[in-house]
Amino acid sequence: MTTLKNGITIDETSWCSPNSWSGRPNGITGATVHWWGLPEWHQKFDQVADYLSTDRGASSTSAHYVVSDTRVACLVSPENRAWHALAGNETTIGLELDPNGGEATLENTAQVIAMLEEYFGKDFFIYPHSHWTSTACPGKYTDKIGWIADRVNQIRRGQTPTQAVITPTPTILCNQPPAPVAQPEWVVEKGDTLSKIARYYKGEASRAMVEAIASENGICPDSVLKVGQKIKIPSPLVWVVEPGDTWGKIADYYSFDIDYLKSLNPGVSLAPGVVLRIW
Ligand SMILES: [Zn+2]
Repeated sequence: MTTLKNGITIDETSWCSPNSWSGRPNGITGATVHWWGLPEWHQKFDQVADYLSTDRGASSTSAHYVVSDTRVACLVSPENRAWHALAGNETTIGLELDPNGGEATLENTAQVIAMLEEYFGKDFFIYPHSHWTSTACPGKYTDKIGWIADRVNQIRRGQTPTQAVITPTPTILCNQPPAPVAQPEWVVEKGDTLSKIARYYKGEASRAMVEAIASENGICPDSVLKVGQKIKIPSPLVWVVEPGDTWGKIADYYSFDIDYLKSLNPGVSLAPGVVLRIW
């Protein structure tokens, strides 16, 4: 557990992105600053961290750190190479900043970089993502790179900031998208494991199934689950009807509404062997 000099604790356990290469054969030269999307998209911290921790084949991306006004999470160890800036991947550490962040996001970014400089024992170059490739990223942070560099030096000398550097953007309330259909969730109790959850929902606890559930939740397959943690179950989910099954029994099994279950399986009547869509 790492706590920055401004008191923010880096969340090092909630995510563990598989989108990385092990080691740093070409050393380290600095940090690359990103923003995680356009401000009007209003993407949430956890969504972004989940996204960057999910294997999407050839389109997989990641970053070492996700940074907002109030939170910092580490998805990829700085000892390894994340996938955030093409040519910049080899020798820089990627930080994804909240596009709606204010001064505190910049401060947290500078705190992380100062910590990394001390950890690696060298001064960092700080690059905007646009240094490496043609991109608008990191948007409004592009002309704050100099400020971050100055602030990193101040932090390492033990100084506090002297002036506000960025005007926080007002919060704009967007229409929220409709809630997704009830994705089954397992609320973890003491002793639960991903294998147990896989067996319950999918009827098998193979490594591939455990990995699929871990990926859906942006966690590592071998994560120790916390009591109360919600584990989302990836689709597809089916139920093969057995003698004696009723809509009520099946709905109860998943804590679903009977009408919801029927709406997913229009016109289906229950008979042994019928495959129901559950989610
Ligand atoms: Zn970027």
